[in-house]
Amino acid sequence: MNTTVSPRECYFCRVSRGEADPFIFENAAFVGIFDTNPVNPGHALVIPRRHVVSIFELNEHEQADYFDALHGVREVIEATRFAELYPSMMAREDLSDRPMDHIKAVLELPFLDARPDAYTVGNNDGRAAGRSIDHLHVIVLPRYQGDVENPRGGIRNVIPARASYQRR
Ligand SMILES: [Zn+2]
Repeated sequence: MNTTVSPRECYFCRVSRGEADPFIFENAAFVGIFDTNPVNPGHALVIPRRHVVSIFELNEHEQADYFDALHGVREVIEATRFAELYPSMMAREDLSDRPMDHIKAVLELPFLDARPDAYTVGNNDGRAAGRSIDHLHVIVLPRYQGDVENPRGGIRNVIPARASYQRR
């Protein structure tokens, strides 16, 4: 396995050892946390405890726990009041030196405490796909009616020039 950062210094290894963000979910192979730079209310991450770089490296047990974690994290998202979560996140001492722009922005959203209308679940599986930390972290992003002007195509829009298509 070719990793540029050793598990000891890897941020998501620290998370999975319980040394950073509080868990909102855990099972044998995975933990779940709320992202501290949310792009929508409830933006969460599902992270394997093992230092696995790619989703394609998960073993069978981890694959089962991955789906269990997706379900578990979704349940927590739907039971959480974000108008309370984000102010308490801003008060976290371990985040005191970090910019809070994303949290402030989601606190202003009209659908802050609405039930999610949909989800985008995704993983940037490789540097060329936008991954910035080489430890698998799957994004569970609640979506809300009107959060973008035109959601059609969803993650196709990572390549905007070729995203739109006409159905025949
Ligand atoms: Zn790691």
